Amino acid sequence: MSTSPLKPVDAHLDEVLAAVSPLGSLDMTLSDAHGCVLDEDVVATFPLPPFDNAATDGYAVRTEDVRTASAAAPTVLPVVGDVLPGSTTPYTVQPGLCVRIMTGAPIPPGADAVVAREDTDGGLANVAVRRAPTVGHNIRIAGDDAAVGAPVLTAGAHLGATQIGLLAAVGRDRVTVRPRPRVVVLSTGGELVEPGLPLGRGQIPDSNSALLTSAAQEAGAIAFKVGIVPDEPSQLADTLEDQLIRADVVLTTGGVSVGTSDVVKEVLGRIGSVRFDQLAIDPPMPVGFGAIGPDKTPFFGLPGNPVSAYIAFEIFVRPALRRMIGVEPIQRPTVRARLGEALESPPGRRSYVRGALNVEEGAYVVRPVGGAGSHLIAALAAANALIVVPESVTELEPGAAVTVTLLERRHH
Ligand code: AMP
Ligand code: MG
Repeated sequence: MSTSPLKPVDAHLDEVLAAVSPLGSLDMTLSDAHGCVLDEDVVATFPLPPFDNAATDGYAVRTEDVRTASAAAPTVLPVVGDVLPGSTTPYTVQPGLCVRIMTGAPIPPGADAVVAREDTDGGLANVAVRRAPTVGHNIRIAGDDAAVGAPVLTAGAHLGATQIGLLAAVGRDRVTVRPRPRVVVLSTGGELVEPGLPLGRGQIPDSNSALLTSAAQEAGAIAFKVGIVPDEPSQLADTLEDQLIRADVVLTTGGVSVGTSDVVKEVLGRIGSVRFDQLAIDPPMPVGFGAIGPDKTPFFGLPGNPVSAYIAFEIFVRPALRRMIGVEPIQRPTVRARLGEALESPPGRRSYVRGALNVEEGAYVVRPVGGAGSHLIAALAAANALIVVPESVTELEPGAAVTVTLLERRHH
Protein backbone atom coordinates (compact mmCIF):
# COMPACT_ATOMS: atom_id res chain seq x y z
CA MET A 1 0.00 0.00 0.00
CA SER A 2 0.87 3.65 -0.08
CA THR A 3 3.90 4.79 1.87
CA SER A 4 2.93 8.45 1.78
CA PRO A 5 3.47 10.29 5.07
CA LEU A 6 0.68 10.19 7.63
CA LYS A 7 -1.66 13.15 7.57
CA PRO A 8 -1.62 15.23 10.78
CA VAL A 9 -4.83 15.21 12.80
CA ASP A 10 -5.09 19.02 12.77
CA ALA A 11 -4.65 19.21 9.00
CA HIS A 12 -7.48 16.74 8.53
CA LEU A 13 -9.73 18.56 10.99
CA ASP A 14 -9.05 21.89 9.27
CA GLU A 15 -10.00 20.35 5.95
CA VAL A 16 -13.22 18.94 7.38
CA LEU A 17 -14.20 22.21 9.05
CA ALA A 18 -13.48 24.21 5.90
CA ALA A 19 -15.92 22.00 4.01
CA VAL A 20 -18.95 22.40 6.29
CA SER A 21 -21.03 25.42 7.20
CA PRO A 22 -24.14 26.23 9.20
CA LEU A 23 -27.35 25.09 7.52
CA GLY A 24 -29.71 27.62 5.96
CA SER A 25 -32.41 28.89 8.28
CA LEU A 26 -36.02 27.74 8.44
CA ASP A 27 -39.21 28.83 10.13
CA MET A 28 -40.11 26.19 12.75
CA THR A 29 -42.57 25.49 15.52
CA LEU A 30 -41.17 25.87 19.01
CA SER A 31 -41.12 22.14 19.62
CA ASP A 32 -39.15 21.50 16.43
CA ALA A 33 -36.84 24.41 17.27
CA HIS A 34 -35.63 22.81 20.51
CA GLY A 35 -31.89 22.19 20.14
CA CYS A 36 -31.58 24.51 17.15
CA VAL A 37 -29.79 27.83 16.91
CA LEU A 38 -31.87 30.98 16.62
CA ASP A 39 -31.41 32.97 13.41
CA GLU A 40 -33.34 36.11 14.32
CA ASP A 41 -33.32 38.64 17.13
CA VAL A 42 -36.43 38.20 19.24
CA VAL A 43 -37.91 41.24 21.00
CA ALA A 44 -40.78 41.42 23.42
CA THR A 45 -43.88 42.75 21.64
CA PHE A 46 -45.71 43.13 24.95
CA PRO A 47 -44.27 43.66 28.41
CA LEU A 48 -43.18 40.62 30.38
CA PRO A 49 -45.09 40.15 32.62
CA PRO A 50 -47.86 41.73 30.54
CA PHE A 51 -49.66 43.41 33.48
CA ASP A 52 -49.07 44.18 37.15
CA ASN A 53 -50.00 41.04 39.07
CA ALA A 54 -49.96 39.51 42.51
CA ALA A 55 -46.74 37.75 43.55
CA THR A 56 -48.57 35.77 46.21
CA ASP A 57 -52.04 34.81 47.40
CA GLY A 58 -53.42 37.52 49.68
CA TYR A 59 -55.31 40.79 49.68
CA ALA A 60 -54.95 43.74 47.33
CA VAL A 61 -55.04 46.86 49.50
CA ARG A 62 -54.41 50.59 49.48
CA THR A 63 -51.31 51.08 51.64
CA GLU A 64 -52.74 54.22 53.19
CA ASP A 65 -55.63 52.14 54.61
CA VAL A 66 -53.33 49.78 56.53
CA ARG A 67 -50.58 52.20 57.56
CA THR A 68 -50.89 51.32 61.23
CA ALA A 69 -51.64 47.61 60.88
CA SER A 70 -49.53 45.25 63.02
CA ALA A 71 -49.83 41.83 64.59
CA ALA A 72 -50.70 43.48 67.90
CA ALA A 73 -53.23 45.91 66.35
CA PRO A 74 -54.57 44.54 63.02
CA THR A 75 -56.59 46.71 60.67
CA VAL A 76 -59.87 45.10 59.62
CA LEU A 77 -61.05 45.76 56.04
CA PRO A 78 -64.20 44.58 54.26
CA VAL A 79 -63.39 42.19 51.37
CA VAL A 80 -65.39 43.18 48.29
CA GLY A 81 -64.58 40.18 46.12
CA ASP A 82 -62.06 37.77 44.65
CA VAL A 83 -59.66 38.29 41.73
CA LEU A 84 -58.40 35.02 40.24
CA PRO A 85 -55.70 34.57 37.58
CA GLY A 86 -57.35 35.22 34.23
CA SER A 87 -60.09 37.20 35.95
CA THR A 88 -61.64 39.99 33.93
CA THR A 89 -63.90 41.30 36.71
CA PRO A 90 -63.43 45.08 36.70
CA TYR A 91 -62.94 45.58 40.44
CA THR A 92 -61.60 48.84 41.69
CA VAL A 93 -60.37 48.96 45.25
CA GLN A 94 -62.11 51.92 46.88
CA PRO A 95 -60.67 53.60 50.00
CA GLY A 96 -61.18 51.46 53.09
CA LEU A 97 -61.87 48.26 51.13
CA CYS A 98 -59.81 45.39 49.76
CA VAL A 99 -60.01 42.50 47.32
CA ARG A 100 -58.88 38.91 47.85
CA ILE A 101 -56.36 38.03 45.15
CA MET A 102 -54.52 34.95 43.90
CA THR A 103 -50.94 34.69 42.59
CA GLY A 104 -50.74 35.91 38.99
CA ALA A 105 -54.08 37.72 39.06
CA PRO A 106 -54.12 41.33 37.78
CA ILE A 107 -53.84 44.01 40.47
CA PRO A 108 -57.18 45.84 40.57
CA PRO A 109 -57.03 49.61 40.07
CA GLY A 110 -56.79 51.51 43.34
CA ALA A 111 -54.70 48.86 45.10
CA ASP A 112 -50.98 49.53 45.49
CA ALA A 113 -49.82 46.50 47.50
CA VAL A 114 -50.68 42.90 48.22
CA VAL A 115 -50.68 41.66 51.80
CA ALA A 116 -49.76 37.99 51.85
CA ARG A 117 -52.42 35.67 53.24
CA GLU A 118 -50.06 34.67 56.07
CA ASP A 119 -49.95 38.32 57.24
CA THR A 120 -53.75 38.24 57.73
CA ASP A 121 -56.39 36.06 59.37
CA GLY A 122 -57.48 34.83 55.91
CA GLY A 123 -60.98 36.25 56.38
CA LEU A 124 -63.59 36.07 53.60
CA ALA A 125 -66.09 38.86 54.34
CA ASN A 126 -63.68 40.90 56.45
CA VAL A 127 -59.95 40.48 56.80
CA ALA A 128 -57.67 41.41 59.68
CA VAL A 129 -54.45 42.79 58.19
CA ARG A 130 -51.46 42.32 60.51
CA ARG A 131 -48.82 44.15 58.56
CA ALA A 132 -48.34 47.57 56.96
CA PRO A 133 -46.98 46.92 53.45
CA THR A 134 -44.88 49.37 51.46
CA VAL A 135 -46.16 50.56 48.08
CA GLY A 136 -45.62 47.82 45.50
CA HIS A 137 -45.22 45.08 48.09
CA ASN A 138 -45.91 41.64 46.52
CA ILE A 139 -46.69 43.22 43.15
CA ARG A 140 -44.90 42.01 40.03
CA ILE A 141 -44.63 45.08 37.83
CA ALA A 142 -45.50 44.81 34.11
CA GLY A 143 -42.28 44.72 32.08
CA ASP A 144 -39.94 44.08 35.01
CA ASP A 145 -38.67 40.92 33.23
CA ALA A 146 -38.60 42.45 29.74
CA ALA A 147 -39.94 45.78 28.49
CA VAL A 148 -41.71 46.15 25.12
CA GLY A 149 -39.07 46.21 22.41
CA ALA A 150 -36.37 44.72 24.62
CA PRO A 151 -34.32 41.98 22.96
CA VAL A 152 -34.97 38.76 24.86
CA LEU A 153 -32.83 36.48 22.66
CA THR A 154 -30.42 37.28 19.85
CA ALA A 155 -29.43 35.39 16.71
CA GLY A 156 -26.98 32.67 17.58
CA ALA A 157 -28.70 31.67 20.83
CA HIS A 158 -28.83 27.92 21.28
CA LEU A 159 -32.39 26.96 22.13
CA GLY A 160 -32.52 24.73 25.19
CA ALA A 161 -35.51 24.22 27.43
CA THR A 162 -35.27 27.61 29.14
CA GLN A 163 -34.93 29.56 25.89
CA ILE A 164 -37.88 27.68 24.38
CA GLY A 165 -39.85 28.57 27.53
CA LEU A 166 -38.93 32.24 27.13
CA LEU A 167 -40.03 32.25 23.48
CA ALA A 168 -43.40 30.84 24.54
CA ALA A 169 -43.62 33.47 27.32
CA VAL A 170 -43.23 36.29 24.79
CA GLY A 171 -45.99 34.71 22.73
CA ARG A 172 -43.99 33.11 19.93
CA ASP A 173 -45.20 29.84 18.44
CA ARG A 174 -42.70 29.80 15.56
CA VAL A 175 -39.16 31.05 15.18
CA THR A 176 -36.48 31.27 12.50
CA VAL A 177 -33.70 28.85 13.32
CA ARG A 178 -30.86 26.95 11.77
CA PRO A 179 -32.09 23.36 11.68
CA ARG A 180 -30.16 20.59 13.35
CA PRO A 181 -28.18 18.60 10.79
CA ARG A 182 -29.63 15.22 9.84
CA VAL A 183 -27.01 12.52 10.05
CA VAL A 184 -27.55 9.24 8.23
CA VAL A 185 -25.56 6.37 9.74
CA LEU A 186 -24.90 3.07 8.04
CA SER A 187 -22.61 0.16 8.82
CA THR A 188 -20.96 -2.02 6.21
CA GLY A 189 -19.84 -5.54 6.91
CA GLY A 190 -20.94 -9.03 5.97
CA GLU A 191 -20.21 -10.18 9.53
CA LEU A 192 -22.75 -7.83 11.09
CA VAL A 193 -26.09 -8.80 12.63
CA GLU A 194 -28.83 -6.57 14.07
CA PRO A 195 -28.40 -6.48 17.88
CA GLY A 196 -30.92 -8.86 19.45
CA LEU A 197 -30.80 -11.41 16.65
CA PRO A 198 -28.98 -14.71 17.14
CA LEU A 199 -25.35 -14.79 16.03
CA GLY A 200 -24.19 -17.31 13.47
CA ARG A 201 -20.62 -18.48 13.18
CA GLY A 202 -18.24 -15.54 12.73
CA GLN A 203 -20.96 -12.97 13.20
CA ILE A 204 -21.02 -9.99 15.58
CA PRO A 205 -23.76 -7.51 16.48
CA ASP A 206 -23.57 -4.17 14.67
CA SER A 207 -22.54 -1.88 17.50
CA ASN A 208 -21.36 1.05 15.38
CA SER A 209 -24.84 2.01 14.19
CA ALA A 210 -26.09 2.35 17.75
CA LEU A 211 -22.87 4.01 18.92
CA LEU A 212 -22.75 6.63 16.20
CA THR A 213 -26.44 7.51 16.05
CA SER A 214 -26.31 8.10 19.81
CA ALA A 215 -23.09 10.09 19.50
CA ALA A 216 -24.62 12.23 16.74
CA GLN A 217 -27.66 12.91 18.94
CA GLU A 218 -25.45 13.81 21.88
CA ALA A 219 -23.64 16.24 19.58
CA GLY A 220 -27.01 17.91 18.91
CA ALA A 221 -27.82 16.42 15.50
CA ILE A 222 -30.79 14.40 14.29
CA ALA A 223 -29.62 10.86 13.55
CA PHE A 224 -31.13 8.26 11.24
CA LYS A 225 -29.94 4.70 11.79
CA VAL A 226 -30.07 2.89 8.48
CA GLY A 227 -28.41 -0.24 9.85
CA ILE A 228 -26.37 -2.88 8.13
CA VAL A 229 -25.43 -2.81 4.49
CA PRO A 230 -23.64 -5.88 3.13
CA ASP A 231 -20.20 -5.52 1.57
CA GLU A 232 -21.74 -5.46 -1.85
CA PRO A 233 -21.14 -2.41 -4.08
CA SER A 234 -24.52 -2.17 -5.79
CA GLN A 235 -26.43 -2.50 -2.50
CA LEU A 236 -24.27 0.11 -0.86
CA ALA A 237 -24.66 2.47 -3.82
CA ASP A 238 -28.46 2.01 -3.85
CA THR A 239 -28.72 2.54 -0.11
CA LEU A 240 -26.61 5.68 -0.21
CA GLU A 241 -28.61 7.10 -3.09
CA ASP A 242 -31.89 6.38 -1.27
CA GLN A 243 -30.65 7.95 1.94
CA LEU A 244 -29.19 11.13 0.48
CA ILE A 245 -32.64 12.71 0.32
CA ARG A 246 -32.77 13.03 4.12
CA ALA A 247 -29.08 13.56 4.83
CA ASP A 248 -27.10 16.66 5.69
CA VAL A 249 -24.20 14.37 6.59
CA VAL A 250 -23.57 10.70 5.77
CA LEU A 251 -21.51 8.45 8.04
CA THR A 252 -20.47 4.94 7.13
CA THR A 253 -18.31 2.56 9.10
CA GLY A 254 -16.19 -0.32 7.93
CA GLY A 255 -14.81 -1.27 4.58
CA VAL A 256 -12.02 1.29 4.63
CA SER A 257 -9.14 -0.72 6.09
CA VAL A 258 -6.14 -1.60 4.04
CA GLY A 259 -6.74 -4.96 2.40
CA THR A 260 -10.52 -5.08 2.89
CA SER A 261 -12.83 -5.56 -0.01
CA ASP A 262 -12.80 -1.78 -0.42
CA VAL A 263 -16.50 -1.61 -1.19
CA VAL A 264 -16.94 1.80 0.35
CA LYS A 265 -14.07 3.27 -1.64
CA GLU A 266 -15.25 1.74 -4.88
CA VAL A 267 -18.82 2.98 -4.57
CA LEU A 268 -17.86 6.46 -3.41
CA GLY A 269 -15.64 6.97 -6.39
CA ARG A 270 -18.79 6.68 -8.48
CA ILE A 271 -21.21 8.88 -6.54
CA GLY A 272 -18.92 11.50 -5.13
CA SER A 273 -15.45 12.67 -4.47
CA VAL A 274 -14.05 11.23 -1.29
CA ARG A 275 -10.45 11.00 -0.19
CA PHE A 276 -9.11 8.34 2.12
CA ASP A 277 -6.19 9.30 4.31
CA GLN A 278 -4.02 7.44 6.75
CA LEU A 279 -3.85 9.73 9.74
CA ALA A 280 -1.06 10.38 12.21
CA ILE A 281 -3.34 9.24 15.00
CA ASP A 282 -3.42 6.41 17.49
CA PRO A 283 -5.45 4.21 17.33
CA PRO A 284 -4.12 4.10 13.75
CA MET A 285 -6.89 4.50 11.20
CA PRO A 286 -7.77 5.42 7.69
CA VAL A 287 -10.64 7.90 7.37
CA GLY A 288 -12.55 8.98 4.34
CA PHE A 289 -13.91 12.48 3.88
CA GLY A 290 -15.53 14.20 0.95
CA ALA A 291 -18.85 15.00 -0.66
CA ILE A 292 -21.39 12.72 -2.31
CA GLY A 293 -24.54 13.01 -4.37
CA PRO A 294 -26.02 15.92 -6.28
CA ASP A 295 -26.01 18.25 -3.27
CA LYS A 296 -22.40 17.45 -2.39
CA THR A 297 -23.45 16.10 0.98
CA PRO A 298 -20.54 15.84 3.43
CA PHE A 299 -19.47 12.25 3.80
CA PHE A 300 -17.35 10.57 6.49
CA GLY A 301 -16.05 7.04 5.93
CA LEU A 302 -15.15 5.92 9.44
CA PRO A 303 -13.21 2.80 10.40
CA GLY A 304 -15.04 -0.41 11.34
CA ASN A 305 -13.44 -0.95 14.71
CA PRO A 306 -15.83 0.61 17.21
CA VAL A 307 -13.18 2.41 19.26
CA SER A 308 -11.59 3.90 16.13
CA ALA A 309 -15.00 4.81 14.75
CA TYR A 310 -15.91 6.58 17.98
CA ILE A 311 -12.62 8.44 18.23
CA ALA A 312 -12.84 9.50 14.59
CA PHE A 313 -16.36 10.70 15.33
CA GLU A 314 -15.19 12.66 18.38
CA ILE A 315 -12.21 14.26 16.69
CA PHE A 316 -13.64 15.05 13.24
CA VAL A 317 -17.39 14.51 12.98
CA ARG A 318 -18.55 16.08 16.22
CA PRO A 319 -16.82 19.44 15.61
CA ALA A 320 -18.21 19.41 12.06
CA LEU A 321 -21.74 18.77 13.32
CA ARG A 322 -21.43 21.55 15.85
CA ARG A 323 -20.20 23.92 13.16
CA MET A 324 -23.26 22.96 11.08
CA ILE A 325 -25.57 23.47 14.07
CA GLY A 326 -23.98 26.87 14.58
CA VAL A 327 -22.98 26.43 18.23
CA GLU A 328 -19.80 27.38 20.00
CA PRO A 329 -17.58 25.94 21.23
CA ILE A 330 -17.34 23.24 18.60
CA GLN A 331 -14.77 21.38 20.67
CA ARG A 332 -15.36 19.52 23.88
CA PRO A 333 -13.93 21.08 27.03
CA THR A 334 -10.48 19.95 28.15
CA VAL A 335 -8.78 19.95 31.54
CA ARG A 336 -5.23 19.39 32.68
CA ALA A 337 -4.86 16.29 34.82
CA ARG A 338 -2.13 14.23 36.46
CA LEU A 339 -1.51 10.86 34.94
CA GLY A 340 -2.21 8.06 37.43
CA GLU A 341 0.11 5.60 35.74
CA ALA A 342 2.81 5.50 33.06
CA LEU A 343 1.77 5.74 29.42
CA GLU A 344 3.48 5.01 26.12
CA SER A 345 2.55 6.47 22.80
CA PRO A 346 3.84 5.76 19.28
CA PRO A 347 6.14 8.43 17.81
CA GLY A 348 4.70 10.77 15.21
CA ARG A 349 1.08 10.04 16.10
CA ARG A 350 -1.31 11.89 18.35
CA SER A 351 -2.79 9.37 20.76
CA TYR A 352 -6.29 9.51 22.14
CA VAL A 353 -6.16 7.15 25.10
CA ARG A 354 -9.41 6.14 26.74
CA GLY A 355 -9.24 7.33 30.32
CA ALA A 356 -11.07 7.39 33.62
CA LEU A 357 -10.89 10.89 35.04
CA ASN A 358 -11.49 11.40 38.74
CA VAL A 359 -10.87 14.04 41.35
CA GLU A 360 -8.41 12.90 44.01
CA GLU A 361 -7.55 15.26 46.86
CA GLY A 362 -9.03 18.15 44.93
CA ALA A 363 -7.05 17.55 41.72
CA TYR A 364 -7.83 15.77 38.46
CA VAL A 365 -6.20 12.38 38.06
CA VAL A 366 -6.64 10.33 34.90
CA ARG A 367 -5.88 6.65 34.34
CA PRO A 368 -5.99 4.73 31.08
CA VAL A 369 -8.79 2.16 30.94
CA GLY A 370 -8.49 -1.08 29.03
CA GLY A 371 -5.73 -1.65 26.53
CA ALA A 372 -4.74 -0.21 23.22
CA GLY A 373 -6.92 -2.48 21.04
CA SER A 374 -9.45 -0.60 18.98
CA HIS A 375 -11.97 -3.43 19.36
CA LEU A 376 -12.23 -2.86 23.14
CA ILE A 377 -15.71 -1.38 23.35
CA ALA A 378 -16.20 -2.51 26.95
CA ALA A 379 -13.22 -0.38 27.98
CA LEU A 380 -14.49 2.46 25.81
CA ALA A 381 -17.78 2.46 27.68
CA ALA A 382 -15.89 2.69 30.98
CA ALA A 383 -14.01 5.82 29.84
CA ASN A 384 -15.22 9.32 30.63
CA ALA A 385 -12.31 11.11 29.02
CA LEU A 386 -9.70 10.93 26.27
CA ILE A 387 -6.08 11.50 27.25
CA VAL A 388 -4.45 13.45 24.42
CA VAL A 389 -0.77 12.60 23.94
CA PRO A 390 1.01 14.90 21.46
CA GLU A 391 2.80 13.51 18.40
CA SER A 392 6.26 14.22 19.82
CA VAL A 393 5.69 12.48 23.16
CA THR A 394 6.39 8.75 23.41
CA GLU A 395 6.58 8.15 27.15
CA LEU A 396 4.89 9.69 30.13
CA GLU A 397 5.73 9.02 33.76
CA PRO A 398 3.09 8.68 36.46
CA GLY A 399 2.25 12.16 37.73
CA ALA A 400 2.94 13.84 34.37
CA ALA A 401 0.55 16.63 33.42
CA VAL A 402 -1.65 15.73 30.45
CA THR A 403 -4.49 17.34 28.54
CA VAL A 404 -7.75 15.44 28.85
CA THR A 405 -10.90 15.84 26.77
CA LEU A 406 -14.05 15.44 28.82
CA LEU A 407 -16.59 13.08 27.30
CA GLU A 408 -19.48 14.25 29.41
CA ARG A 409 -22.86 13.35 28.08
CA ARG A 410 -25.48 15.43 26.34
CA HIS A 411 -24.87 19.11 26.04
CA HIS A 412 -26.47 20.49 22.96
P1 AMP B 1 -13.49 -3.05 8.63
O1 AMP B 1 -13.10 -1.62 8.73
O2 AMP B 1 -14.75 -3.26 7.87
O3 AMP B 1 -12.37 -3.89 8.07
O4 AMP B 1 -13.74 -3.57 10.09
C1 AMP B 1 -12.73 -3.55 11.07
C2 AMP B 1 -13.18 -4.29 12.31
O5 AMP B 1 -14.31 -3.66 12.86
C3 AMP B 1 -13.61 -5.74 12.08
O6 AMP B 1 -13.21 -6.50 13.19
C4 AMP B 1 -15.12 -5.62 12.01
O7 AMP B 1 -15.77 -6.83 12.34
C5 AMP B 1 -15.40 -4.56 13.01
N1 AMP B 1 -16.61 -3.87 12.67
C6 AMP B 1 -16.90 -3.31 11.46
N2 AMP B 1 -18.12 -2.74 11.46
C7 AMP B 1 -18.63 -2.92 12.70
C8 AMP B 1 -19.85 -2.58 13.32
N3 AMP B 1 -20.80 -1.90 12.67
N4 AMP B 1 -20.06 -2.93 14.61
C9 AMP B 1 -19.09 -3.61 15.28
N5 AMP B 1 -17.92 -3.96 14.76
C10 AMP B 1 -17.66 -3.64 13.48
MG1 MG C 1 -15.83 -4.67 7.13
